[in-house]
Amino acid sequence: MSAPSLHSPLTAPTPAGPPHPALVAQPQLVLCDECDAVHERMPLERGQVARCQRCNALLGRAHVVTPNGQLAFALAGLIFLLIGNMVPLVTLELRGIKLSVTLPHAIALTWQLGQPLVAVLTVATAILFPFLLLALRVYVLGFFAWDLLPPGFKWAMRALRIATYWSMVEVLMISAMVAIVRSSGLAGVTPGLGFFAYALLTLLLTSITAAGLHTMWKRGSALGAG
Ligand SMILES: [Zn+2]
Repeated sequence: MSAPSLHSPLTAPTPAGPPHPALVAQPQLVLCDECDAVHERMPLERGQVARCQRCNALLGRAHVVTPNGQLAFALAGLIFLLIGNMVPLVTLELRGIKLSVTLPHAIALTWQLGQPLVAVLTVATAILFPFLLLALRVYVLGFFAWDLLPPGFKWAMRALRIATYWSMVEVLMISAMVAIVRSSGLAGVTPGLGFFAYALLTLLLTSITAAGLHTMWKRGSALGAG
């Protein structure tokens, strides 16, 4: 699917004033996350998507949710993440015995059953990185809501980029659904409230990450990030 490319690539470095031209912030430029191609920033109409002219990676989109709306989404995401870890993910019923399992409980059982790598990866991709993604967005967007530059803005944005790459809640949801369907012949398996909290969290995270990070970088530059 081709989307409109609204950023024109630059072939020559942009001249900037002394003393260190390379270190001067250039909020009017956009760098491709995938191939480092430099593009000139242009305003996008609602619903438009900008892609890299070299590698077609997503550069940004005119997101319909405002920054304050994104802040609300991130706060809601943190609440769903908390609920998803505190209440049962599934309830198993076998020979009259019922067992409700939360996600942390399931991860602990996985560790005890001799799968420490799976347990660690699940903690990282389904709890730790989604938490960092949401908490860092709340931190940065919370300061932006008051027209302030958050302390450690650049570090927070770099951490946010890593957290976005490693947050894989949707993989947990697909795995849980497959496990529930496959186990249904052996035992009564009922999705719990935690399952639905994670399902809603997946939708929220999809909407949140679709906004990308360029708008936040631009706002930080406008507020004085060097
Ligand atoms: Zn690119």
